[in-house]
Amino acid sequence: MKRFFRGGLISLFILLLLFGGITIHTVLQTQTNGRLINYVGIVRGASQRLIKLELSGLPDDGIIAYLDGILLELQGGEATYGLPSPDDSAYQRDLAKLELMWGLVKEEISAYRSGSVDSSRLLALSEDFFEQANHTVFSADAYSARQMRFLLTGCLVMMGVMSLTWIFILWANSKNLLKLEVQNEQLNDLASRDTLTGVYQIGAFKEKAQQLLDSRPEKFAIVYTDFSDFKYINDVFGYDYGDLLLSQYGKILQKGLQEHELCGRVSADNFVLLLHYNDKSEIAARQSAADHEILRFMHTAHDGQMLPTNCGICCVEDVIESLKIDGFLDRANFARKTVKTGNKQNYVYYDESIRSHLREERDIENRMLTALENREFTVFYQPKVELATGKIGCAEALVRWQSRAGTIIPPDRFIPVFERKYMIDRLDQYVYEEVCRWLRSLLDSGRQPLPVSVNVSRLQFYDQNFVDKYVSIRDQYAIPPELLEVEFTESIAFDNSALLLQTVSRLKKAGFSCSIDDFGKGYSSLGLLKNLPIDVLKIDSLFFDEGPDLNKDMALVEGIIDMVKKFDIRTVAEGIESMDQVEYLKRIGCDYVQGYVFYRPMPQADYEALITHGIQA
Ligand code: C2E
Ligand code: MG
Ligand code: MG
Repeated sequence: MKRFFRGGLISLFILLLLFGGITIHTVLQTQTNGRLINYVGIVRGASQRLIKLELSGLPDDGIIAYLDGILLELQGGEATYGLPSPDDSAYQRDLAKLELMWGLVKEEISAYRSGSVDSSRLLALSEDFFEQANHTVFSADAYSARQMRFLLTGCLVMMGVMSLTWIFILWANSKNLLKLEVQNEQLNDLASRDTLTGVYQIGAFKEKAQQLLDSRPEKFAIVYTDFSDFKYINDVFGYDYGDLLLSQYGKILQKGLQEHELCGRVSADNFVLLLHYNDKSEIAARQSAADHEILRFMHTAHDGQMLPTNCGICCVEDVIESLKIDGFLDRANFARKTVKTGNKQNYVYYDESIRSHLREERDIENRMLTALENREFTVFYQPKVELATGKIGCAEALVRWQSRAGTIIPPDRFIPVFERKYMIDRLDQYVYEEVCRWLRSLLDSGRQPLPVSVNVSRLQFYDQNFVDKYVSIRDQYAIPPELLEVEFTESIAFDNSALLLQTVSRLKKAGFSCSIDDFGKGYSSLGLLKNLPIDVLKIDSLFFDEGPDLNKDMALVEGIIDMVKKFDIRTVAEGIESMDQVEYLKRIGCDYVQGYVFYRPMPQADYEALITHGIQA
């Protein structure tokens, strides 16, 4: 193609030169032919003037000499006027005849001057000469017209050939450009893909997805997938296997795509897809087929070790607001998160309930700051019963939002919003200070309060001043350190165990009791407990849920209690609802029970009455 293109360009250049040459030649020829016709015309006119003067008795030899010169040059003689001598037979014939007649005219003039002939013969001969000159003008004109036609035809042919060559060059060039464009697109496409998995990086995914959403008429859905505990894979089988799994998953997802569909990787084990459908159920079915494939891969790679995926699906038609791709991704991700929070289905569609949940969250977001300022949060207390004595040993402070409208909002609804908006530290401190204030009031009235545990969000760990702040509030109310315990949720341990160790050590040094909350809810690491100087382990209610694995769970709980006792760690069983469970826990040596079986979380006044007078509201 390149050779053709170069050949075309050279030809076009030669053609242009030729065309230029012919054009210049044509212009010059037009000029020359014009002069020829003009001069033959002069011969015709001047001969008439000559005869007229002759007959009037005013002979003019100058005119004769002038006409001699022209006719001589017309016949190819000495060039004085720049006249051509065309190689045209008709013209040459007429010219020869004219020449001959000119000789006769000149002889007749001599005879007339000598008086041997009268004027009538000279007049008749001049008429004939005029006639012949006329013919010669016409044949010169005809010759000129023929030549012009020939040259113009040449020009037209040249223009045609040049146009064709030009079209060929354009075609060859556009083919080249097209090829370059395709190559360019392929390179761009490659650059916008994730190197490990081969799917699009999230930025490129969003851009392409938005274009498809804007331009295609199909019904689209955004799918957001995430392995349920990929950290487990990395920690247990190593990063190489983790990478292999991700790259394999990327291939499976990519392979399943149809035309106008996309796949991208958000980060780590989170993937997003843009799929189209006729019926919504197709999406979950397709995704489930892809997920089964990766499960089969895991099964063969690691002897039955399988990790399910959680998947949120947002069909564009289910969203009332007009959203851009980010909005759809958020909603699909939101639906995915509801899988994690106890939804039995692994494929959750974004729907009305999720939408109202989102609305509620937004409402919480809008109101949380003023609610804090208006002190709309109150503290409930849930006693923990010591199994050895059957008495209340301590209590957990649990926040409640008592809105102005009078409704009580449970913490599960607003704590995640506070965490997301990085305002959880303010709420935690608010609760902690309320607890300190209340303990101070008990102490001031001469009563000996029981210890209280407060919850601390893991985000607070990233605040370097966290321990100092808690110490300073405790000192402000002069609370004895043994009355306060700090509960951390288990997930903190695995987010950043070094930070956890450092913070727990500082808290311990400052005199606080420390406990790990919800142990067993996520990825439990018993190994960590041996390094962590905690006082209390709170075993999550999940272990006590009735279910097919109850026996295994019980064995686990026994093992955990047995082991942590050796580290001098006390145990609290959370969410206990039946006396059978209490008896069992007592048997296996659990220290405390916190659950509805004894007490539900209660307002401060009720708890105060309970511990002061032993009265339960
Ligand atoms: P948590 O710290 O694990 O608190 C125990 C939760 O279990 C409480 O829910 C309590 O009411 C519930 N519970 C206790 N016994 C039973 C039972 O027998 N059956 C059932 N079904 N539930 C029982 P609550 O008060 O809704 O708190 C939920 C979570 O919100 C807490 O879990 C804690 O993680 C968080 N939270 C509460 N207050 C605060 C706070 O001030 N700061 C922070 N960061 N988180 C808080
Ligand atoms: Mg707690
Ligand atoms: Mg708990």
